[in-house]
Amino acid sequence: MKRRLVLLGAPGSGKGTQAELITRQFGIPVTSPGAILRREQDLGTPLGQQTAEIIQRGELVSDDVIVKLIEEWLRLHGSYGFVFDGFPRTLPQAESLNSILQRLRTALDLAIWLEVSEKTVHDRIGGRLQCRNCGFTTSVSSAKFAERPICPYCEGPLVRRSDDDETVLSNRLQEFHTKTEPLAKFYEKMSILHRIDGNRDRDVVFKDISRLIEQKSDA
Ligand code: ADP
Repeated sequence: MKRRLVLLGAPGSGKGTQAELITRQFGIPVTSPGAILRREQDLGTPLGQQTAEIIQRGELVSDDVIVKLIEEWLRLHGSYGFVFDGFPRTLPQAESLNSILQRLRTALDLAIWLEVSEKTVHDRIGGRLQCRNCGFTTSVSSAKFAERPICPYCEGPLVRRSDDDETVLSNRLQEFHTKTEPLAKFYEKMSILHRIDGNRDRDVVFKDISRLIEQKSDA
């Protein structure tokens, strides 16, 4: 089984949703720098305060800050593998991850690229609701949540993420095109890139991902 994965794709491509399904089905621990930083912001920590404005502008947080977060996370939780949702997002981050893993005498198994159309991105982000407490994500098109925006898991309030606003989203997409898209070539060269059509229903996408994870590992 493959246990060291990165999930790549535009905002709204379904990285968070798929990461959640992977961890539930295969027990591989997941982390997301975006989720960590939102939590830091809610707690009012120096890191949260320092990065809040950058996130709100739809720009990327500096590579140093993000790589430190991931390195620390790997040190504490990395022994059973990992799914990174939204990391790496730049070439320097991808190179740092390779060096960190090399130091740990291991390597990445899969880079999964969730491909989505601009329409899918706008539809999903425009209707996205997220639990302020636990991060559960759903859509306003789900009637029960539109009427009663309460998290089914922890009863926290379901709200729109402030960076899901249309203007901020266009900056996030710009960052994605210029800084993250070049990673496709990077992982292609390492022969671990797998492109998956992320426009489809979440369970169908998950079936494709499961197949990749279940493939026998050489290691
Ligand atoms: P999405 O994938 O929907 O854009 P995330 O929760 O992954 O949402 O990220 C939210 C924000 O957190 C990003 O717009 C960016 O400002 C910051 N962020 C998350 N991951 C990274 C990363 N790897 N490098 C730099 N900034 C990041």
